Amino acid sequence: MRRIDELEAQFARHPTLPREAVLKADLLRTGICFDERALIHADDGEGASVREHQPKSYFIFSFDMVRQQQLDETQKWHAPEEIALTGGRWNLQRTIVSTRLNPSSPYRVAPRDGALWLHDGEEPLAEVGLHDLPPYYRAKLPDGRPVAEITPTIEWGYLLYLTVFRVCQYFGAHEECQFCDINNNYRQQIQEGRPYTGVKSVADILAALEAVDASGSESLAYTITGGSVTSTLQGKNEVEFYSQYVEAIESRFPGRWISKVVTQAWPVADVKRLKAAGAQIYHPNYEIWDAGLFPKICPGKDRYVGRDEWIRRIVDAAEVFGPAYVIPNFVAGIEMAQPHGYTEVEEAIRSTAEGLEFFMSKGITPRFTTWCPEPMTPLGDANPEGAPLEYHLRLLETYRDTLHAYRLAPPPGYGEPGPGKAVFSVSPFMDVLAPISADAAAV
Ligand code: SF4
Repeated sequence: MRRIDELEAQFARHPTLPREAVLKADLLRTGICFDERALIHADDGEGASVREHQPKSYFIFSFDMVRQQQLDETQKWHAPEEIALTGGRWNLQRTIVSTRLNPSSPYRVAPRDGALWLHDGEEPLAEVGLHDLPPYYRAKLPDGRPVAEITPTIEWGYLLYLTVFRVCQYFGAHEECQFCDINNNYRQQIQEGRPYTGVKSVADILAALEAVDASGSESLAYTITGGSVTSTLQGKNEVEFYSQYVEAIESRFPGRWISKVVTQAWPVADVKRLKAAGAQIYHPNYEIWDAGLFPKICPGKDRYVGRDEWIRRIVDAAEVFGPAYVIPNFVAGIEMAQPHGYTEVEEAIRSTAEGLEFFMSKGITPRFTTWCPEPMTPLGDANPEGAPLEYHLRLLETYRDTLHAYRLAPPPGYGEPGPGKAVFSVSPFMDVLAPISADAAAV
Protein backbone atom coordinates (compact mmCIF):
# COMPACT_ATOMS: atom_id res chain seq x y z
CA MET A 1 0.00 0.00 0.00
CA ARG A 2 1.30 3.48 -0.84
CA ARG A 3 1.92 5.63 2.25
CA ILE A 4 -0.39 8.25 0.73
CA ASP A 5 -3.29 5.79 0.77
CA GLU A 6 -2.51 4.69 4.31
CA LEU A 7 -2.24 8.33 5.45
CA GLU A 8 -5.50 9.33 3.81
CA ALA A 9 -7.24 6.36 5.39
CA GLN A 10 -5.85 7.46 8.76
CA PHE A 11 -6.95 11.08 8.23
CA ALA A 12 -10.48 9.78 7.81
CA ARG A 13 -10.21 7.45 10.78
CA HIS A 14 -8.77 10.14 13.10
CA PRO A 15 -10.50 13.36 11.99
CA THR A 16 -9.66 15.24 15.20
CA LEU A 17 -5.91 14.88 14.70
CA PRO A 18 -4.14 17.49 12.59
CA ARG A 19 -2.89 15.96 9.35
CA GLU A 20 0.49 17.46 10.20
CA ALA A 21 0.69 15.24 13.29
CA VAL A 22 -0.38 12.09 11.42
CA LEU A 23 2.32 12.52 8.78
CA LYS A 24 4.90 13.45 11.41
CA ALA A 25 4.13 10.31 13.44
CA ASP A 26 4.57 8.18 10.33
CA LEU A 27 7.84 9.86 9.37
CA LEU A 28 9.25 9.37 12.86
CA ARG A 29 8.35 5.68 12.93
CA THR A 30 9.42 5.01 9.33
CA GLY A 31 12.40 7.30 8.73
CA ILE A 32 13.37 9.37 5.71
CA CYS A 33 15.97 9.13 2.96
CA PHE A 34 17.57 11.96 1.00
CA ASP A 35 18.64 12.08 -2.62
CA GLU A 36 22.21 13.25 -2.93
CA ARG A 37 20.96 16.19 -5.01
CA ALA A 38 18.88 17.32 -2.04
CA LEU A 39 21.94 17.82 0.14
CA ILE A 40 24.67 18.73 -2.35
CA HIS A 41 24.31 21.32 -5.07
CA ALA A 42 26.67 22.36 -7.84
CA ASP A 43 28.26 25.76 -7.32
CA ASP A 44 29.45 28.22 -9.96
CA GLY A 45 31.96 26.01 -11.65
CA GLU A 46 34.18 25.09 -8.74
CA GLY A 47 32.70 21.66 -8.34
CA ALA A 48 30.13 20.33 -5.88
CA SER A 49 29.56 22.16 -2.64
CA VAL A 50 27.47 21.47 0.40
CA ARG A 51 24.32 23.41 1.17
CA GLU A 52 24.74 25.51 4.30
CA HIS A 53 22.03 23.86 6.32
CA GLN A 54 22.25 22.60 9.90
CA PRO A 55 23.47 18.98 9.80
CA LYS A 56 22.37 16.14 12.03
CA SER A 57 24.45 16.31 15.22
CA TYR A 58 23.72 12.88 16.73
CA PHE A 59 22.88 14.80 19.89
CA ILE A 60 22.48 11.71 22.12
CA PHE A 61 21.34 8.49 20.37
CA SER A 62 21.68 7.59 16.70
CA PHE A 63 17.96 8.08 16.05
CA ASP A 64 18.56 6.30 12.72
CA MET A 65 17.11 3.03 11.44
CA VAL A 66 20.39 1.82 10.02
CA ARG A 67 23.99 1.82 11.18
CA GLN A 68 26.35 4.57 10.02
CA GLN A 69 28.14 2.04 7.81
CA GLN A 70 24.94 1.52 5.83
CA LEU A 71 24.64 5.20 4.90
CA ASP A 72 26.17 6.81 1.85
CA GLU A 73 28.70 9.53 2.62
CA THR A 74 26.31 12.34 1.74
CA GLN A 75 23.59 11.27 4.14
CA LYS A 76 26.10 10.32 6.83
CA TRP A 77 27.67 13.78 6.95
CA HIS A 78 25.11 16.16 5.47
CA ALA A 79 21.64 14.94 6.44
CA PRO A 80 19.82 17.79 8.18
CA GLU A 81 19.03 17.77 11.89
CA GLU A 82 15.38 18.42 11.10
CA ILE A 83 13.11 19.23 8.21
CA ALA A 84 10.18 21.69 8.05
CA LEU A 85 7.22 20.54 5.96
CA THR A 86 4.77 23.02 4.47
CA GLY A 87 2.01 23.19 1.86
CA GLY A 88 1.80 20.46 -0.73
CA ARG A 89 -0.92 17.91 -1.25
CA TRP A 90 -2.58 18.56 2.12
CA ASN A 91 -1.68 22.25 2.49
CA LEU A 92 0.25 21.57 5.68
CA GLN A 93 1.14 24.19 8.23
CA ARG A 94 4.84 24.26 9.09
CA THR A 95 5.73 20.95 10.76
CA ILE A 96 9.16 20.28 12.24
CA VAL A 97 10.34 16.67 12.06
CA SER A 98 13.59 15.19 13.37
CA THR A 99 15.63 13.34 10.73
CA ARG A 100 15.75 9.58 11.22
CA LEU A 101 17.69 8.11 8.35
CA ASN A 102 16.40 5.02 6.62
CA PRO A 103 17.59 4.37 3.05
CA SER A 104 14.67 1.93 2.54
CA SER A 105 12.01 4.42 3.60
CA PRO A 106 9.23 5.21 1.13
CA TYR A 107 9.62 8.83 2.24
CA ARG A 108 12.26 10.52 0.12
CA VAL A 109 13.44 14.13 0.02
CA ALA A 110 14.50 15.24 -3.45
CA PRO A 111 14.63 18.46 -5.49
CA ARG A 112 11.57 19.37 -7.55
CA ASP A 113 10.95 22.56 -9.50
CA GLY A 114 13.76 24.41 -7.76
CA ALA A 115 12.73 23.45 -4.21
CA LEU A 116 13.04 20.43 -1.96
CA TRP A 117 10.04 18.16 -1.61
CA LEU A 118 9.07 15.17 0.47
CA HIS A 119 7.89 12.35 -1.79
CA ASP A 120 6.13 9.05 -1.36
CA GLY A 121 7.98 7.23 -4.11
CA GLU A 122 7.64 9.73 -7.00
CA GLU A 123 4.54 11.46 -5.63
CA PRO A 124 5.22 14.89 -4.04
CA LEU A 125 3.69 15.35 -0.59
CA ALA A 126 4.96 18.61 0.94
CA GLU A 127 7.66 21.19 0.46
CA VAL A 128 10.74 20.74 2.65
CA GLY A 129 12.70 23.54 4.34
CA LEU A 130 16.06 23.06 6.05
CA HIS A 131 17.28 25.10 9.01
CA ASP A 132 20.13 27.46 8.23
CA LEU A 133 23.47 26.65 9.76
CA PRO A 134 23.52 28.59 13.05
CA PRO A 135 26.44 31.06 12.95
CA TYR A 136 28.12 29.52 16.00
CA TYR A 137 28.32 26.11 14.24
CA ARG A 138 31.47 27.37 12.51
CA ALA A 139 33.20 28.27 15.81
CA LYS A 140 35.85 26.09 17.43
CA LEU A 141 37.03 25.66 21.01
CA PRO A 142 40.68 26.62 21.62
CA ASP A 143 41.66 22.93 21.21
CA GLY A 144 40.00 22.79 17.77
CA ARG A 145 36.84 20.85 18.65
CA PRO A 146 33.69 22.25 17.02
CA VAL A 147 31.44 24.21 19.35
CA ALA A 148 28.51 22.60 17.53
CA GLU A 149 29.52 19.19 18.89
CA ILE A 150 29.53 20.50 22.47
CA THR A 151 26.31 22.53 22.29
CA PRO A 152 24.15 21.46 19.30
CA THR A 153 20.76 23.07 18.82
CA ILE A 154 17.61 21.10 18.04
CA GLU A 155 13.88 21.89 17.87
CA TRP A 156 14.39 24.42 15.07
CA GLY A 157 16.72 26.55 17.18
CA TYR A 158 14.74 26.40 20.45
CA LEU A 159 16.77 23.95 22.54
CA LEU A 160 20.48 23.52 23.23
CA TYR A 161 20.97 19.81 23.80
CA LEU A 162 23.91 19.25 26.13
CA THR A 163 24.71 15.55 26.39
CA VAL A 164 27.58 15.91 28.83
CA PHE A 165 28.16 12.15 29.25
CA ARG A 166 27.82 10.28 25.96
CA VAL A 167 27.77 6.77 27.40
CA CYS A 168 25.79 5.00 30.10
CA GLN A 169 27.10 2.98 33.02
CA TYR A 170 24.26 0.53 32.51
CA PHE A 171 26.26 -1.67 30.25
CA GLY A 172 25.44 -4.67 28.07
CA ALA A 173 22.24 -6.56 27.34
CA HIS A 174 21.43 -7.26 30.97
CA GLU A 175 21.51 -3.62 32.07
CA GLU A 176 20.99 -1.25 29.14
CA CYS A 177 17.45 -0.20 28.36
CA GLN A 178 16.46 -2.44 25.48
CA PHE A 179 15.47 0.41 23.15
CA CYS A 180 18.55 2.58 23.77
CA ASP A 181 21.67 2.68 21.58
CA ILE A 182 23.64 5.29 23.54
CA ASN A 183 26.67 3.04 24.07
CA ASN A 184 26.66 1.45 20.62
CA ASN A 185 26.11 4.80 18.98
CA TYR A 186 29.07 6.28 20.84
CA ARG A 187 31.26 3.46 19.56
CA GLN A 188 30.07 3.80 15.96
CA GLN A 189 30.49 7.58 15.88
CA ILE A 190 34.08 7.30 17.17
CA GLN A 191 34.74 4.61 14.58
CA GLU A 192 33.41 6.86 11.81
CA GLY A 193 35.65 9.71 12.94
CA ARG A 194 32.91 12.12 13.99
CA PRO A 195 34.10 14.53 16.71
CA TYR A 196 32.27 13.08 19.73
CA THR A 197 33.37 14.05 23.24
CA GLY A 198 32.66 11.24 25.75
CA VAL A 199 32.58 13.48 28.82
CA LYS A 200 32.19 17.20 28.20
CA SER A 201 33.84 19.22 30.97
CA VAL A 202 32.16 22.15 32.67
CA ALA A 203 34.81 24.34 31.02
CA ASP A 204 33.88 22.91 27.56
CA ILE A 205 30.24 23.71 28.13
CA LEU A 206 30.84 27.24 29.38
CA ALA A 207 33.25 28.04 26.56
CA ALA A 208 30.81 26.72 23.97
CA LEU A 209 27.90 28.63 25.52
CA GLU A 210 29.94 31.84 25.35
CA ALA A 211 30.12 31.33 21.59
CA VAL A 212 26.40 30.48 21.39
CA ASP A 213 25.42 33.55 23.40
CA ALA A 214 27.76 35.88 21.49
CA SER A 215 26.25 34.69 18.18
CA GLY A 216 22.83 36.04 19.16
CA SER A 217 21.38 32.51 19.19
CA GLU A 218 17.59 32.32 19.29
CA SER A 219 17.74 29.33 21.67
CA LEU A 220 15.45 29.64 24.69
CA ALA A 221 16.21 26.51 26.70
CA TYR A 222 18.92 23.98 27.41
CA THR A 223 18.86 20.37 28.48
CA ILE A 224 21.65 18.79 30.53
CA THR A 225 21.67 15.02 30.16
CA GLY A 226 23.66 11.89 29.44
CA GLY A 227 23.92 8.27 30.47
CA SER A 228 23.27 7.03 33.99
CA VAL A 229 26.08 7.10 36.54
CA THR A 230 25.64 4.09 38.76
CA SER A 231 28.96 4.40 40.58
CA THR A 232 31.02 7.53 40.12
CA LEU A 233 32.31 9.58 37.23
CA GLN A 234 35.42 11.70 37.64
CA GLY A 235 35.08 11.17 41.39
CA LYS A 236 31.49 12.43 41.52
CA ASN A 237 28.24 10.58 42.05
CA GLU A 238 25.41 11.09 39.56
CA VAL A 239 23.80 13.98 41.42
CA GLU A 240 27.10 15.80 41.92
CA PHE A 241 28.12 15.17 38.34
CA TYR A 242 25.01 16.53 36.63
CA SER A 243 24.30 19.32 39.14
CA GLN A 244 27.73 20.90 38.60
CA TYR A 245 26.81 21.84 35.00
CA VAL A 246 23.58 23.56 35.97
CA GLU A 247 25.30 25.39 38.81
CA ALA A 248 28.06 26.63 36.51
CA ILE A 249 25.72 27.69 33.69
CA GLU A 250 23.32 29.46 36.03
CA SER A 251 26.15 31.28 37.74
CA ARG A 252 27.70 32.43 34.44
CA PHE A 253 24.43 33.06 32.53
CA PRO A 254 21.76 33.53 35.21
CA GLY A 255 18.29 32.99 33.72
CA ARG A 256 19.53 33.22 30.10
CA TRP A 257 17.82 29.93 29.21
CA ILE A 258 15.08 27.72 30.66
CA SER A 259 17.10 25.01 32.43
CA LYS A 260 16.08 21.37 32.04
CA VAL A 261 17.77 18.22 33.30
CA VAL A 262 17.12 14.62 32.16
CA THR A 263 18.46 11.99 34.57
CA GLN A 264 17.34 9.00 36.55
CA ALA A 265 14.65 9.39 39.22
CA TRP A 266 16.53 10.49 42.32
CA PRO A 267 15.63 10.41 46.02
CA VAL A 268 14.06 13.63 47.20
CA ALA A 269 17.20 14.99 48.92
CA ASP A 270 19.06 14.75 45.62
CA VAL A 271 16.18 16.34 43.74
CA LYS A 272 16.36 19.28 46.18
CA ARG A 273 20.03 19.62 45.44
CA LEU A 274 19.36 19.75 41.69
CA LYS A 275 16.72 22.42 42.20
CA ALA A 276 19.10 24.43 44.38
CA ALA A 277 21.70 24.20 41.59
CA GLY A 278 19.28 26.14 39.38
CA ALA A 279 17.34 23.51 37.41
CA GLN A 280 13.79 24.60 36.55
CA ILE A 281 12.47 21.45 34.90
CA TYR A 282 13.22 17.84 35.87
CA HIS A 283 12.78 14.88 33.50
CA PRO A 284 13.07 11.58 35.44
CA ASN A 285 12.09 9.41 32.49
CA TYR A 286 10.04 6.29 33.25
CA GLU A 287 10.24 4.99 29.63
CA ILE A 288 7.33 2.54 29.92
CA TRP A 289 4.42 2.37 32.35
CA ASP A 290 3.54 -1.33 32.29
CA ALA A 291 4.73 -2.99 35.50
CA GLY A 292 5.35 -6.34 33.80
CA LEU A 293 7.29 -4.86 30.88
CA PHE A 294 9.41 -2.35 32.85
CA PRO A 295 11.86 -4.96 34.24
CA LYS A 296 12.24 -6.59 30.83
CA ILE A 297 12.79 -3.34 28.95
CA CYS A 298 14.71 -1.38 31.58
CA PRO A 299 16.61 -4.13 33.43
CA GLY A 300 19.30 -1.80 34.84
CA LYS A 301 16.83 0.71 36.18
CA ASP A 302 14.73 -2.09 37.59
CA ARG A 303 17.67 -3.67 39.39
CA TYR A 304 19.22 -0.48 40.76
CA VAL A 305 16.06 1.46 41.62
CA GLY A 306 12.96 -0.64 40.90
CA ARG A 307 9.84 0.40 39.04
CA ASP A 308 7.65 1.25 42.03
CA GLU A 309 10.39 3.26 43.70
CA TRP A 310 11.07 5.05 40.40
CA ILE A 311 7.46 6.16 40.20
CA ARG A 312 7.38 7.14 43.89
CA ARG A 313 10.42 9.35 43.28
CA ILE A 314 8.73 11.07 40.34
CA VAL A 315 5.74 11.89 42.54
CA ASP A 316 8.02 13.11 45.36
CA ALA A 317 9.93 15.31 42.93
CA ALA A 318 6.69 17.16 42.22
CA GLU A 319 6.78 18.42 45.81
CA VAL A 320 10.17 19.98 45.12
CA PHE A 321 9.82 21.35 41.58
CA GLY A 322 6.04 21.75 41.44
CA PRO A 323 4.05 19.18 39.46
CA ALA A 324 4.08 21.12 36.18
CA TYR A 325 7.87 21.18 36.21
CA VAL A 326 8.35 17.43 36.57
CA ILE A 327 8.00 16.03 33.05
CA PRO A 328 8.93 12.33 32.82
CA ASN A 329 9.36 10.94 29.33
CA PHE A 330 8.21 7.61 27.99
CA VAL A 331 9.15 5.98 24.69
CA ALA A 332 5.97 5.65 22.66
CA GLY A 333 5.67 2.32 20.92
CA ILE A 334 7.93 0.05 22.93
CA GLU A 335 4.84 -1.38 24.65
CA MET A 336 4.24 -3.18 21.35
CA ALA A 337 7.79 -4.45 20.86
CA GLN A 338 8.07 -8.22 20.61
CA PRO A 339 8.79 -10.65 22.14
CA HIS A 340 7.35 -9.26 25.38
CA GLY A 341 5.03 -6.43 24.37
CA TYR A 342 1.35 -6.13 23.60
CA THR A 343 0.13 -7.42 20.27
CA GLU A 344 -3.11 -5.40 20.23
CA VAL A 345 -3.06 -1.61 19.84
CA GLU A 346 -5.95 -1.03 22.24
CA GLU A 347 -4.31 -3.11 24.97
CA ALA A 348 -1.09 -1.14 24.63
CA ILE A 349 -3.02 2.14 24.71
CA ARG A 350 -4.96 1.02 27.79
CA SER A 351 -1.72 0.37 29.64
CA THR A 352 -0.10 3.65 28.61
CA ALA A 353 -3.29 5.58 29.39
CA GLU A 354 -3.22 4.17 32.93
CA GLY A 355 0.18 5.81 33.41
CA LEU A 356 -1.04 9.09 31.96
CA GLU A 357 -4.06 9.05 34.30
CA PHE A 358 -1.84 8.29 37.27
CA PHE A 359 0.54 11.19 36.67
CA MET A 360 -1.88 13.73 35.22
CA SER A 361 -4.30 13.24 38.14
CA LYS A 362 -1.43 14.54 40.28
CA GLY A 363 -0.73 17.49 37.97
CA ILE A 364 2.40 15.86 36.54
CA THR A 365 2.48 15.99 32.73
CA PRO A 366 4.52 13.23 31.08
CA ARG A 367 5.65 13.65 27.50
CA PHE A 368 6.83 11.13 24.97
CA THR A 369 9.26 10.57 22.15
CA THR A 370 8.26 8.37 19.21
CA TRP A 371 10.19 5.11 19.37
CA CYS A 372 12.88 4.86 16.70
CA PRO A 373 13.70 1.16 16.22
CA GLU A 374 17.47 1.55 16.13
CA PRO A 375 19.18 -1.58 14.76
CA MET A 376 21.89 -1.72 17.42
CA THR A 377 19.33 -2.33 20.19
CA PRO A 378 17.59 -5.59 21.09
CA LEU A 379 14.12 -4.12 20.53
CA GLY A 380 15.01 -2.38 17.28
CA ASP A 381 16.77 -5.44 15.97
CA ALA A 382 13.75 -7.65 16.70
CA ASN A 383 11.16 -5.05 15.56
CA PRO A 384 12.57 -3.07 12.62
CA GLU A 385 9.09 -1.86 11.69
CA GLY A 386 8.53 -0.30 15.13
CA ALA A 387 4.95 0.09 16.35
CA PRO A 388 1.97 0.46 13.99
CA LEU A 389 0.91 3.97 12.95
CA GLU A 390 -2.51 3.26 14.46
CA TYR A 391 -0.87 2.93 17.90
CA HIS A 392 0.86 6.31 17.58
CA LEU A 393 -2.36 8.02 16.49
CA ARG A 394 -4.46 6.48 19.25
CA LEU A 395 -1.80 7.63 21.71
CA LEU A 396 -1.96 11.21 20.43
CA GLU A 397 -5.74 11.21 20.95
CA THR A 398 -5.43 9.66 24.39
CA TYR A 399 -2.68 12.02 25.52
CA ARG A 400 -4.54 15.12 24.31
CA ASP A 401 -7.84 14.02 25.85
CA THR A 402 -6.32 13.07 29.21
CA LEU A 403 -4.46 16.40 29.40
CA HIS A 404 -7.69 18.25 28.70
CA ALA A 405 -9.69 16.13 31.13
CA TYR A 406 -7.35 17.21 33.92
CA ARG A 407 -7.30 20.79 32.59
CA LEU A 408 -3.53 20.79 32.39
CA ALA A 409 -1.51 23.14 30.25
CA PRO A 410 0.98 21.82 27.70
CA PRO A 411 4.25 21.10 29.48
CA PRO A 412 6.57 24.11 29.88
CA GLY A 413 9.93 24.25 28.14
CA TYR A 414 8.74 23.00 24.73
CA GLY A 415 7.81 26.23 23.01
CA GLU A 416 4.36 26.88 21.63
CA PRO A 417 1.90 24.04 21.00
CA GLY A 418 -0.31 23.48 17.98
CA PRO A 419 -0.04 22.82 14.26
CA GLY A 420 2.20 25.35 12.57
CA LYS A 421 3.77 26.33 15.89
CA ALA A 422 5.20 23.23 17.57
CA VAL A 423 8.96 22.74 17.36
CA PHE A 424 9.38 19.55 19.40
CA SER A 425 10.71 17.34 16.65
CA VAL A 426 10.96 13.78 18.02
CA SER A 427 7.26 13.34 18.70
CA PRO A 428 4.07 15.00 17.44
CA PHE A 429 2.62 15.44 20.94
CA MET A 430 2.98 19.25 20.89
CA ASP A 431 1.47 19.40 17.39
CA VAL A 432 -1.89 18.10 18.66
CA LEU A 433 -2.26 20.43 21.65
CA ALA A 434 -3.90 23.83 21.63
CA PRO A 435 -3.14 26.45 24.26
CA ILE A 436 -5.79 26.37 27.00
CA SER A 437 -7.33 29.59 28.25
CA ALA A 438 -6.03 31.28 31.40
CA ASP A 439 -9.44 30.64 33.04
CA ALA A 440 -9.23 26.92 32.40
CA ALA A 441 -5.62 26.74 33.52
CA ALA A 442 -6.51 28.35 36.82
CA VAL A 443 -9.16 25.73 37.74
S1 SF4 B 1 19.48 4.67 31.49
FE1 SF4 B 1 18.70 3.47 29.76
S2 SF4 B 1 17.81 5.04 28.35
FE2 SF4 B 1 19.19 6.10 29.77
S3 SF4 B 1 21.13 6.18 28.71
FE3 SF4 B 1 21.20 4.37 30.05
S4 SF4 B 1 20.53 2.68 28.78
FE4 SF4 B 1 19.96 4.59 27.72
